[in-house]
Amino acid sequence: MLTTNPYDDDKLREECGIFAAWNADNAASFVALGLHALQHRGQEAAGITSLDQSGFHSHRAQGHVAGNFDRDEVIRALPGRTAIGHVRYSTTGSSALRNVQPLFAELADGGFAVAHNGNISNAMKLRRTLNRRGSIFQSTSDTEVVIHLVATSAHTQLLDRIVDALTQVEGAYALLMLTEQGLIACRDPLGIRPLVMGRIGDTVVFASETVALDVIGARYERDVGPGEMVIVNADGLRSFRPFASASPRPCIFEHVYFSRPDSVVDGISVYESRKNIGAVLAEEAGVEADIVVPVPDSGVPAAIGYAQASGIPFELGIIRSHYVGRTFIQPSQEVRHLGVKLKHNANSALIKGKRVVLIDDSIVRGTTSLKIVQMMRDAGAREVHMRIASPPTRHSCFYGVDTPERAKLLAAQMDVEAMAKYINADSLAFISIDGLYRALGDHRDAAAPQRCDACFTGDYPTRLTDLTDKKAEESGLKLAAVS
Ligand code: AMP
Repeated sequence: MLTTNPYDDDKLREECGIFAAWNADNAASFVALGLHALQHRGQEAAGITSLDQSGFHSHRAQGHVAGNFDRDEVIRALPGRTAIGHVRYSTTGSSALRNVQPLFAELADGGFAVAHNGNISNAMKLRRTLNRRGSIFQSTSDTEVVIHLVATSAHTQLLDRIVDALTQVEGAYALLMLTEQGLIACRDPLGIRPLVMGRIGDTVVFASETVALDVIGARYERDVGPGEMVIVNADGLRSFRPFASASPRPCIFEHVYFSRPDSVVDGISVYESRKNIGAVLAEEAGVEADIVVPVPDSGVPAAIGYAQASGIPFELGIIRSHYVGRTFIQPSQEVRHLGVKLKHNANSALIKGKRVVLIDDSIVRGTTSLKIVQMMRDAGAREVHMRIASPPTRHSCFYGVDTPERAKLLAAQMDVEAMAKYINADSLAFISIDGLYRALGDHRDAAAPQRCDACFTGDYPTRLTDLTDKKAEESGLKLAAVS
């Protein structure tokens, strides 16, 4: 179902991965490979837009990268030495094809294609203003406001128009923009979402995660810095810092769950950080037990860390089928429940009679934990102790990680003791927020946290204009006049 209601924030939120290649013989094939490595960041739809002398070419479709870009004729229809691509997932309403990125528009400066990872937290307010001024939106994606802001900017040069557009935007964005004047990569001033740059021969690539560089054999060069804009064209590569400088707040959840363990995020190996998280968790919340069992795959590195630090043997007590999508992504609660049963199975011969420490990366709605604890009990576990490699998720993310509304977060509804009862575990413990920072090699400065940890602390590093406006509306207050 499509929505035309810009106030429905469910329909504007998404979670994504982006990739670009400049100066490659067949840029689209590089992008397809890069997106394949980023598939975990979004599995509902994928798209690639390329540029050659004849103009822009685009293929966008629902489904996986492999299904959409595995045929020669599809890649051949995306000619050119420069291309950008996008994988996404979002709630059902917004999976419509018109929201699949890269988005494209013909502007006064020529064609403009954009791929975005993040979420613009004042998109609805901007959209209302633009609508009133005559902008006609083609999608319900928050990203489209960037296109209209660029299109309507009073500046004459394209780069100035883009900067003008982005200074009006709040929230999180890692952006790849394909224009006739060059390929532009940009990260929001706080660097909430990741973006890295690499090279293979004379080809420059940009990606959400380093794992997408590895897949094509590209060398990691550096992160695109918070607030940095990089343009690559025939004149070479230039970097700008057009925004007011701010202390960076990269997303901590990339390390907890979102990034692949073989990626390096903010200069830290995600695998190492997850193992460290497990070790700190063992220190903070040790328990007498016979085996440490990860909820696969997301709990595996933390469980290895927990086992090594505690001396309790690591065992694969749950086997995961790799032919089922992530439970979280299924659109309805009924399917989500079914998904968990399809996805995991207890290794009963191992579990019987044992005291089990179960490790998972996070509890969101509690669906997975409830099922898995029961699965351990059905398999004959003597005790089940759940340990979670992140603090309780008490707040929604408004920066591009698809979390349910606050009321559906288990930790927003009850304390840890009640959660233990709810999931029927003998004990339940989470790593502390300070412990999490320690595991990442930091010391959390409570007055000015070095990362975005809003999902755990509620400390949002930007304004959340749409949320506040919406609340104001719901409470019968009149919206502030939009300028
Ligand atoms: P839940 O079953 O709702 O408690 O969700 C927790 C499970 O979902 C954990 O096993 C996580 O690995 C996974 N998860 C956590 N956050 C996300 C997210 N934003 N997107 C997809 N899966 C997630």
